[in-house]
Amino acid sequence: MTDTVKYVLDESRIPRAWYNLQADLPKPLPPVLHPGTKQPVGPDDLAPLFPMELILQEVTQEREVPIPEPVRDVYRQWRPSPLFRARRLEKVLQTPAHIYYKYEGVSPAGSHKPNTAVPQAFYNREAGVRKLVTETGAGQWGSSLAFAGALFGIDVQVFMVRVSYDQKPYRRALMETYGAKCVASPSNLTNAGRAILAQRPDHPGSLGIAISEAVEIAAQNDHIKYALGSVLNHVLLHQTIVGQEAIEQFAMTGDYPDVIVGCTGGGSNFAGLAFPFIGAQLRGGKKIDVIATEPTACPTLTRGRYAYDFGDTAHLTPLTKMHTLGSTFTPPGFHAGGLRYHGMAPLVSHLQELGLSRSLAYTQSRVFDAGVQFARAEGIVPAPEANHAVRGAIDEAIRCREEGVSRTILFNLSGHGHFDMQAYIDYFGGKLKDLAYDEAELASALAGLPSVAEPA
Ligand SMILES: *Cc1c(COP(=O)(O)O)cnc(C)c1O
Repeated sequence: MTDTVKYVLDESRIPRAWYNLQADLPKPLPPVLHPGTKQPVGPDDLAPLFPMELILQEVTQEREVPIPEPVRDVYRQWRPSPLFRARRLEKVLQTPAHIYYKYEGVSPAGSHKPNTAVPQAFYNREAGVRKLVTETGAGQWGSSLAFAGALFGIDVQVFMVRVSYDQKPYRRALMETYGAKCVASPSNLTNAGRAILAQRPDHPGSLGIAISEAVEIAAQNDHIKYALGSVLNHVLLHQTIVGQEAIEQFAMTGDYPDVIVGCTGGGSNFAGLAFPFIGAQLRGGKKIDVIATEPTACPTLTRGRYAYDFGDTAHLTPLTKMHTLGSTFTPPGFHAGGLRYHGMAPLVSHLQELGLSRSLAYTQSRVFDAGVQFARAEGIVPAPEANHAVRGAIDEAIRCREEGVSRTILFNLSGHGHFDMQAYIDYFGGKLKDLAYDEAELASALAGLPSVAEPA
């Protein structure tokens, strides 16, 4: 029996449609509300920020949304991504569990994010948009949109959270290599940024602030639109290509997942893998234990409140009902920069409320223990964010060993960690601190949640 088992699909099997979980939900999502009137928003309210095709994908109830051929053409460079059976890791753990992972680090930018960056750039170009502005935490989303912008001839400007801008110069260089402009946020280019800097000139930045800056610029300029790398329904929709491929690949294995694990920042890679399986379950298929994993330092699903909140600090975005730590919450500067958002995708939040998924939080040192154990067995060095999924999968496999039962575990290896080796250097140097968030700050951020009369 060989040690490395890799399930590959021919590129003709790249799915022809994305899967929309909204078509199969037992209860619809609560409406998105206008930040001023607090009434449900219509497509026109979002038109300054997004091209109409993406707005329609945000609200569609159709089960299948066709993938345009030019997008499939770009996907062909790295898709279908491989599904691996982690046999060597199973041996190390001495577990009867079967562990599989879908590897999204094979994209040019090194993560799952190009799965949505490419269609977003495509639909914007079709709508005649010349420039996109966005935010980025660790730089994964910024570099993915920069890559997609280069392919479709769109200028890209990225507001990068200040701590990451200083800590991760290689990601910044990658964005610049693709031709994007990268600015540290908070910046003095926007009202939102200037207001923050006036209060605190050395502010480390947050995703919520960077979103405010990008949204402000897009809202003020007709030819500039905004792009978001997670959270929104259309972003999660684009990521479902991952889970659909995995369903086809599982048909080759003779197995089917009992447990699915994904890490959650805004929820997109988790949703991308899990939603097609949850949809199959809701249509009468097998029930799966679906687990979202997150950092204890930014515990949105495990400690956040399910409430209407803004997506950004300056309160320019619509209000969505989601698990949130409060839009002013600034988590401590831990290494999984992609998991530092105060909110969570409304669809992922809704699933947990419906009891269709659950969530677990881990400290930084425990997720790096898992990532290093994984790398030594399987050879791939995971991104710090993905280490949260590795931790969840390894814990499930250990539980199988202790209970003497075999389960099939599938997790999303959302990206590689080649640009994050400083985090590993800090781990080996004993410098990774298990930072706790500030309880008083969380309480005050939650106290500041907008009061909203729930629409009936
Ligand atoms: C951005 C990122 C995440 C977190 O974002 P989600 O939208 O929750 O997927 C996770 N893993 C990697 C590798 C990322 O780049």
